Amino acid sequence: MVISDDRRGSLKEAASWSRRFRRVRLVVPVAAAFFLLMGYLGELSPLQALVGFGLISAAALIEASGESRDDLAARSREDARGLPGDLIIQAVISGLPDPAIVLERDGIVRAFNAKALEIAPALTRGQPLSFALRNPAVLDAWRRATTAGVALRVEFFQRVPADRWSEAAITPIMTETPAGGRSLVVMVFHDMTPVRQIEQMRADFVANASHELRTPLASLSGFIDTLLGPARADPEARERFLGIMKDQADRMARLIDDLLSLSRIELKAHVHPENPVDLVSLLQQVADALQPLAHERDVTIEVGMPEGELTVLGDHDELIRVFENLIENALKYGANGKRIDLTLAREKIGENEEALVSVKDYGPGIAPEHLPRLTERFYRVDVTESRAQGGTGLGLALVKHILQRHRGRLSIESTLGSGATFTVRLPIVTGTRT
Ligand code: ADP
Repeated sequence: MVISDDRRGSLKEAASWSRRFRRVRLVVPVAAAFFLLMGYLGELSPLQALVGFGLISAAALIEASGESRDDLAARSREDARGLPGDLIIQAVISGLPDPAIVLERDGIVRAFNAKALEIAPALTRGQPLSFALRNPAVLDAWRRATTAGVALRVEFFQRVPADRWSEAAITPIMTETPAGGRSLVVMVFHDMTPVRQIEQMRADFVANASHELRTPLASLSGFIDTLLGPARADPEARERFLGIMKDQADRMARLIDDLLSLSRIELKAHVHPENPVDLVSLLQQVADALQPLAHERDVTIEVGMPEGELTVLGDHDELIRVFENLIENALKYGANGKRIDLTLAREKIGENEEALVSVKDYGPGIAPEHLPRLTERFYRVDVTESRAQGGTGLGLALVKHILQRHRGRLSIESTLGSGATFTVRLPIVTGTRT
């Protein structure tokens, strides 16, 4: 049978009252018999006997209605364990920014905050922690911390309710109460997922960068061996191999250049560039510089610019890099569309204005599943094609980082078979149009 806390309290109260009144029921009849006998024997006058009986009965009743010493001790134990203490614990852990659980020494959940439900949705007061959090590492650490009476930290991974790395700080504590010391265990959890994700990204990045560098290096060293051995006396083969080696060396140089640019931009990610840059002349400059490549790929660059200047605050060379990357990509991957539209416009967003630069190609387009990942380092839709085009897989990552530094954004729209549009938005400095 399940008895609620309230009901359990009233039952205790009733038991205590019945104990006290059992004593009253004994005292009153004995006192009545005694004073009747004294009156009958003439030792006391009827009035004296009545007053004596009245005094003794009143004393017994007063004692019964007050709290006995036992009751007081029981009450103070109750206070140590019961509501007021729990309210304080609950108030303290509710103020913590991380999930927190307070356990009795035997592992019964005493209190927890709302955040704790994120890691153990089934947590219930009065039930063992192991019902709600079945992680062996945490339960083992709790057991060790409780047995040894020392604070412990343990890191663990959960798949349910969501993939998450957490660190649990488990601290046994003694609480002093009038009824003696009681030990509780406080568990505070810290989300380690972002730290682990960054570590994973770093490891992936180093692995990718090494792989990208190792491929041309292996090719170079293979050709050197061939030139030193079988092709030593073959001028035709030497000519061809040296050409390939030059391409591979150029690819390594581009990769190192892009890696250095990325790390330089990351270093100043939070410093916003402050130089006024006119986008009209900058875009024209990029389009002109890429004319030879467009000619080589048989592509026309159609430029649509507003009259006058359109100024943003930025770093001239970094912005050149952004638009060079986007137009080069359109020329590399969308060449069969034969045309690229490069347009600049201004758009009002509430009180502010933005410059909108679009690079639209009419090539094969990009499948929707790739779109969200295109700005990741080394992410390519087709690695072989990217390599054949001299790509490093870092171009759009660079674009994204440069734009973030400029408080700008990149959006990509594409439908397979109908080309792709890369749009850059940059805040316009008000009052700079001439
Ligand atoms: P890469 O050095 O490979 O060009 P980017 O980061 O510039 O690296 O681009 C990442 C990938 O996005 C490319 O490898 C290519 O698969 C795809 N991509 C970029 N621009 C276009 C485009 N205009 N049309 C189709 N695919 C594109």
